[in-house]
Amino acid sequence: MNICDKSKCTACYTCYNICPKNCISFENDEYGIKFPVIDDTKCIECNLCVKTCPANNESNFNKPKNAYATWSLDNEDRKTSTSGGLASVLYNEVISKNGVVYGVCMDENFNLNFERATHKNDLYKFKGSKYVQASVNDKFKLVKDDLENNKNVLFIGTPCQIDGLKFYLKKEYSNLYTVDLICHGTPPIGYLKEYIEKIINEKNINPSKILFREDNEYAFILCKDSTQNKLYYKSGFCDEYIQGFLNSLFYRECCYSCKYATNQRVSDMTIGDFWGLGLKEPFNHPYTGAISLALVNTSKGQELLYKCKDKLFMEERSVEEAIEGNAQLNYPSNRHKNYDAFREKYKQYGFVKAANQCLTEELRIGYKKYRKILIRKKLRNMAGIFIKKYRD
Ligand SMILES: Cc1cc2nc3c(=O)[nH]c(=O)nc-3n(C[C@H](O)[C@H](O)[C@H](O)COP(=O)(O)OP(=O)(O)OC[C@H]3O[C@@H](n4cnc5c(N)ncnc54)[C@H](O)[C@@H]3O)c2cc1C
Ligand code: SF4
Ligand code: SF4
Ligand code: SF4
Repeated sequence: MNICDKSKCTACYTCYNICPKNCISFENDEYGIKFPVIDDTKCIECNLCVKTCPANNESNFNKPKNAYATWSLDNEDRKTSTSGGLASVLYNEVISKNGVVYGVCMDENFNLNFERATHKNDLYKFKGSKYVQASVNDKFKLVKDDLENNKNVLFIGTPCQIDGLKFYLKKEYSNLYTVDLICHGTPPIGYLKEYIEKIINEKNINPSKILFREDNEYAFILCKDSTQNKLYYKSGFCDEYIQGFLNSLFYRECCYSCKYATNQRVSDMTIGDFWGLGLKEPFNHPYTGAISLALVNTSKGQELLYKCKDKLFMEERSVEEAIEGNAQLNYPSNRHKNYDAFREKYKQYGFVKAANQCLTEELRIGYKKYRKILIRKKLRNMAGIFIKKYRD
């Protein structure tokens, strides 16, 4: 039995959490993409999974009320976050009032799972965007327990994960705050792991941490424990994984028709990069770091953001500016022209070769751009040395 149309399945884990017999698990198909599988020997045909699946139902969307350009006032927060560090400020606020928070955490074997946290010391593990699909596992059940125990709960995830949680809970909880990330698609975890495995073998390194951005630039970085201990670096311009991710080559099928890629949102607050900042009216601030967008979709979202106002720089902007500047708030990602070729090659050769062969154009252009950047940097350094010498 299929719970929903395979092309619409987001792997949100709602069916997995709702099943009274625990008879749903996830297995990879021939393209390395995971889908729910029912153990017929345990299934009692109650149909709950089908009835609760967000892909089989109309979702409840909210119209954004306000938009803000924002960033954390804490330097360390910003340095260790992908965008302006807003997620970290929201987590800290809820934890400091004895609440419970949920986010994704990558372990040392590069598995990406949702985790629950109740202490400030655990928040570091949620930091940074991981450009790959996370597993919710049984966390919706834990969220429900926390809510029923009158805990304030903050859950941050992709829109399909937030919607999955809402369908699972079936009713509104005043103590639940949901925040969705603007999302253009997620690749299966197996692709990332295969790619890392290749690098580990080629370079004979033993990393336990990955970063996808540095100094506001895309990059593929492998480190040991702390980011000070870098073992591998490749600029995002020349990296197969980053290029495939940015150019929509290998997401789940559902991402290309994502019902959440719209200006109506399923959560209390939507966060992302403020790409269109300054499009409608000038943004006159000397700050040069990454800037977060906070789209406030409900009064609960507004209340949460307001509570954090002392920890954030915040400037109200028009909702139109925020939406116009961010493609994912308007329509789903378009498939890369080599999407079908990638899938066929994946079956034959695996991820690394398939990605490399399908991205020759992007990599050629990327290497060219990267070389130009390096030359410019070198010239700037030489000019600096010359000026210093001349002055001295
Ligand atoms: C797969 C993906 C695609 C994205 N696409 C866009 C985009 O097209 N446009 C845009 O404006 N912004 C996009 N973002 C959001 C953006 O990169 C930042 O994550 C967001 O602005 C929050 O940044 P921050 O500095 O507040 O917090 P950060 O510390 O950078 O982010 C941490 C938060 O993100 C969550 N998170 C990280 N990785 C994942 C994941 N794989 N799945 C679920 N939750 C995750 C963490 O649990 C935590 O809550 C994307 C994020 C992801 C994960
Ligand atoms: S509930 Fe989620 S994981 Fe289960 S079939 Fe539906 S979309 Fe897929
Ligand atoms: S029909 Fe009921 S028992 Fe069977 S898999 Fe779905 S939820 Fe579980
Ligand atoms: S693009 Fe849509 S379906 Fe794909 S991971 Fe993001 S929210 Fe989920």
